[in-house]
Amino acid sequence: MNKRIVIALGGNALLDPKADGSVAEQIRVIERSCEKIAQIIAQGYGVVVTHGNGPQVGNLLIQQEEAKELVPSLPLDVCDAMTQGQLGYWIQQKLREVLARRGLAKSVVTVVTQVRVDPNDPAFASPTKPIGPFYSESERLVLEQKGYVLRRVGQGARAWRRVVASPDPKEIVELEPIRALLEAGVVVIACGGGGVPVVCEDGHWRGVEAVIDKDLASALLAIELGAHVLLILTDVERVALHFGTPRQRLLERMSVREARKYLSEGHFPAGSMGPKVEAAIRFLEAGGERACITSLEKALEALEGRAGTEVYRGL
Ligand code: ADP
Ligand code: MG
Repeated sequence: MNKRIVIALGGNALLDPKADGSVAEQIRVIERSCEKIAQIIAQGYGVVVTHGNGPQVGNLLIQQEEAKELVPSLPLDVCDAMTQGQLGYWIQQKLREVLARRGLAKSVVTVVTQVRVDPNDPAFASPTKPIGPFYSESERLVLEQKGYVLRRVGQGARAWRRVVASPDPKEIVELEPIRALLEAGVVVIACGGGGVPVVCEDGHWRGVEAVIDKDLASALLAIELGAHVLLILTDVERVALHFGTPRQRLLERMSVREARKYLSEGHFPAGSMGPKVEAAIRFLEAGGERACITSLEKALEALEGRAGTEVYRGL
């Protein structure tokens, strides 16, 4: 079988932060990302695409909030599943089109993915991930009655935001169908937004109000599929030490051991580069061949060893 690769798309592969966020604009950005994925498929890789969903699920939560007097609002796990469908649908449509233009007739399919988390994960005791709209002081009191946890994230009239836990992904529930599709030559989109976090208690499965980091979910998926490469595409070409300071140094390569050291020294923050480096470490430690972190633009060059930051096993 061909080499298998899990490609994790970051926020800017789905939405241009400088653009208006309209549907037409989102589809344009996705089509550009699909061109990059198609280049990799054209190299003969078996591809699984994962992606974030932050802005999309945020918008959907605002819609729930604004329409709650008209129709019952949907919980976060359902909104997660909906954005997997939303983004997966756009990627299916545009990737198939882009592949056809290259003379590659490939099926592309989205698997709405559930990811099991541990209900006793310590992350549930200290929610950190802000989601959805900003609330006023009075709205905050109502929401806290509902059991939501809110944090002050700014100043002014609407300074509060809901925060949820970001537990560690333990199991990809739809792993076997994803594997079967990949082995059948299908391009699979899975674990969108990190997957829908679910727990199983006494044989009953249910969604939970949490967010799984999409890079950590991608690493677990890549490990379980026995993928050769984990390619994390974000908006910087290389991982840096002393990021954003005059001492900044871009890294072409770093070993797993160096990565752990830099992580513990605080070079890679928890909300951004940290989970990407952690994902690369986990993948390599579980036996993965190659892990690269780079920009969407440099995806193919990074695979060819000409761009990006490669994390490697060894010292
Ligand atoms: P994505 O949405 O693409 O998954 P994030 O936006 O969460 O990713 O994280 C990528 C961002 O992390 C980069 O745009 C950069 O601003 C930031 N960043 C933080 N620390 C570093 C670092 N050490 N090296 C490179 N980028 C870093
Ligand atoms: Mg981002």
